[in-house]
Amino acid sequence: MSDALRPRALRLIRLLSRPGFHLFLTGALMVLGFVLAHRLSERSGREELSALSTERLELYASNLAAELGRHASLPSLLAIAPTLQALLQTPDDAEARRAASQMLARVNVRAGTHQIFVTNPQGQVLTASEALSAPARLAEALAQGRTHFFAADANTGSTDFYLLYPLRQSGVIVVRFNLAPLEATWVDLGARTQGERILVADDQDVVIMSSVQAWKYTVLGHADPSRRQALQASARYPQAIGADLELPASLEAHQGQQVLLPFPGAKPMLAQQRQIVPLGLRLVALSDLTEVRRRAQLAAWGGAAFGASIGLLVLYLSSRRRALRQLTQAQTDLRQAHAQLEQLVDSRTAELRQTNEALKTQIAQRLQTEGELLQASKLAVLGQMSAGLSHEVNQPLTALRALARNSIRLLESGRQDAVTTNLRLMDDMVERMSQITRQLKSFARKADEQVAGSAPLLACVRNALLLLEHRSRALDVQALVDLPTGLRVRAEANRLEQVLVNLFGNAIDAMQGEPERQLRVQAQSLDAGRRVQIKVQDSGAGVSDEQLQHLFEPFFTTKPAGEGLGLGLVISAKIVDEFGGRLRAERLPQGMSFEFDLDVETWEQADV
Ligand code: ADP
Repeated sequence: MSDALRPRALRLIRLLSRPGFHLFLTGALMVLGFVLAHRLSERSGREELSALSTERLELYASNLAAELGRHASLPSLLAIAPTLQALLQTPDDAEARRAASQMLARVNVRAGTHQIFVTNPQGQVLTASEALSAPARLAEALAQGRTHFFAADANTGSTDFYLLYPLRQSGVIVVRFNLAPLEATWVDLGARTQGERILVADDQDVVIMSSVQAWKYTVLGHADPSRRQALQASARYPQAIGADLELPASLEAHQGQQVLLPFPGAKPMLAQQRQIVPLGLRLVALSDLTEVRRRAQLAAWGGAAFGASIGLLVLYLSSRRRALRQLTQAQTDLRQAHAQLEQLVDSRTAELRQTNEALKTQIAQRLQTEGELLQASKLAVLGQMSAGLSHEVNQPLTALRALARNSIRLLESGRQDAVTTNLRLMDDMVERMSQITRQLKSFARKADEQVAGSAPLLACVRNALLLLEHRSRALDVQALVDLPTGLRVRAEANRLEQVLVNLFGNAIDAMQGEPERQLRVQAQSLDAGRRVQIKVQDSGAGVSDEQLQHLFEPFFTTKPAGEGLGLGLVISAKIVDEFGGRLRAERLPQGMSFEFDLDVETWEQADV
């Protein structure tokens, strides 16, 4: 297809696939079906009717011909009768006339004719089957040399047929018979078959016989006033000429022609005619077309319905095709989208995997760094504590030495009791020192990946305080511990102690320059005893609002170089976080409050 034609073709295809077009098509098919079915049905109906009519016309024609021909041979038989021969030889003989009249009367009765009479060539009656006067048309017919004619009977109003038989210049035998009985059978037939009318018109186109009495003596076509007058004056008809039937001048013999008679309420009819040439008559059959029309109308609606169903079928098929096309398109789109999505997911998954790997590496690095920092911070705390510790250990050592020397002297002097007391004191001091070193050992140990167990809170607090005792004693810090004895929390004791040492150490540091030094440790039940909040409060200098924002940032410290690393709170928060809690700092009117929550293992009484 050329480029110029393609847009037009596309436009046409779009137009054809529109629902509006299909509705238009359905309408058009309906109209077409209506018209075609109407035409076909009407045509076939008319053909059927005209075939039937032609058949009937033949029947009527042969009927009429048979009726008229029934007496055709009668005049020739009469012609050879001696009585008539005698009369013709002596036409003025009264006896001969009487004898002939009697013979004609007898024959008339036997033959069933209306009248038989003999005239001279001029038309004067010589003898007759009964007294009569010759009809007005006889003279004219004789002059024209006709062998028959029709004339109306003024008395009965019916049509008579006159058969003329010339007798070699001497006279004419006339046989008259009436067509009323035949006409009566037509009327009867017409009454029975409502749809068919029959009429016979003479050479003047005047109806002389009809199955409809009202049509008798009407003119088939149209008669103007002068013609009407002439027909009236011809005396051929017994009554005035009736209205015009206005049938076309020439009617088709077999096809028939649709006519509408000029009467009110007249229905369209199919008119067909048959000429009976020897008699100069036209036989016309008129068949009612109502039934044909009714059937054509029914067929038309049937055709319309058929057209509509074809249109609707086309509409249905095309909508179905369109829906299928849309479905296929949607499926293709969906498949494409699916493929794209899969591609996207694949690429994102790969990216995520990469990111994940990178994060894992970072986490590993961070964990390592955190471990190292934790250890560094412990060491820093240990460093801080070492001065106090040496004092803490030196003092008992000095005391121990003094007590040992004193005991030796007491032993020498035999004072066993005093030695025992000294030894008990020495044992207490050694126990105390070993307690400190045990704590130090566990504190300095690098934390392993232990799963948090259950820790006795009060014991942990006491251990932490013990580790800092030298400092708190030096500063005369008052430690107020208000904790339930049997409370065990979900934490690893060693690491919990590390948190507490950090918090207590910071508190002691903060209270250094304060006149009143109070360290409070409290526990508050949360979640109906399922969790506990531990508060460590001091009456120290506290921090500013600005500093409060940065407390948990690594390497934030206000302490002089060498004293603080700025890691204690970071590490403590991290440890609490691992235990499933959160460490928060809050300013008090005097001092600070550090709080963290933990799961409660049990509140029962336990070894402290
Ligand atoms: P460091 O003790 O090595 O400085 P920390 O992380 O433990 O590191 O503490 C950070 C800072 O927080 C301290 O330098 C101090 O200024 C402040 N701080 C911590 N605890 C208290 C407290 N109880 N009172 C006042 N300031 C505190």
